[in-house]
Amino acid sequence: MQQAAGLVPFTSIDFPGCLAAVIFFQGCPLRCPFCHNPELQPFPGPAGQPWDEIMDFLKARTKRLDGVVFSGGEPLMSDEIIEKAREVKGLGFKLAIHTSGVYPERLRELLPLIDWVGLDIKAPWEKYEELTGRPNMAEQVQKSLQVLLESKVDFEARTTCDPRHLTPADTLKIAEILNGVGVKTYALQKYRTFDTDKNPPSVVDIESFFTPEALAPIQKLYPNLICR
Ligand code: SF4
Repeated sequence: MQQAAGLVPFTSIDFPGCLAAVIFFQGCPLRCPFCHNPELQPFPGPAGQPWDEIMDFLKARTKRLDGVVFSGGEPLMSDEIIEKAREVKGLGFKLAIHTSGVYPERLRELLPLIDWVGLDIKAPWEKYEELTGRPNMAEQVQKSLQVLLESKVDFEARTTCDPRHLTPADTLKIAEILNGVGVKTYALQKYRTFDTDKNPPSVVDIESFFTPEALAPIQKLYPNLICR
C-alpha cells in the first residue's frame, strides 16, 4: 500500500506559478549517491502521515493554495498514485509531480491528471547506472521523456550538479541531448550539502558548474536556463 511519508504545507518554488503543498511519498527504486532523502527509499517504509489527514488538510486549504505537488521518494512507484491524484484533483487543485522518470507507463497513465512535471535527468545516459545505483534506468527515463514530449503537459527537465559524480562537460552533454529531442525547459540545480553527508564536495567544486564559462555553451542551447 502506498504511503505518504509527510507533507510540506506551503511552497512557492516547487510548482511554477502556483502556491502549493508538497506530499512526499515513501519508496524509491533508485539509490542515487547524492540522495537527500534516503529514509524515503525503503518500500514499504515506516508509518508516515495518514492519507485521510492529508486530505483533511487539503480540504481546509482549497481557497489558499493553487496546487499540490507529488514528490518523494518516487511517487510513481505504486499505481495507487492514480487514485490519489483523482482525489486531489477532485478538490479543485492543480497537480504537479516530481519524478525520476523510471516508470514511463505509469507516467503516461497519470498525465491526464497532471498540470506540470519536474523530470530528473540525473546524468548523460552512459553514466546513469553510476548516478542511480541501478542498471537499465536510462532506457526508462528516455521513454518517459518521449511520453512527455508527445503530451501537451508542461514540464521541466532538471539535473542536480553533484561534482563528485558529474562534470560541467556532463551537464553540457545532457543539455545537448535534451535540446536535440526538443525539450524546452532545462534547469541546473546546485548540489546542497546536508548534515549526514559524510564526504561533502567543496564549494569551489559545487560552483564549478555555474561559472560564466561553464554556463555559456548551455545557455546557447537554453537562453532561459534555470539555475537554482
Ligand atoms: S530518485 Fe530521488 S529519492 Fe530516489 S534515490 Fe534518487 S535522489 Fe533519492
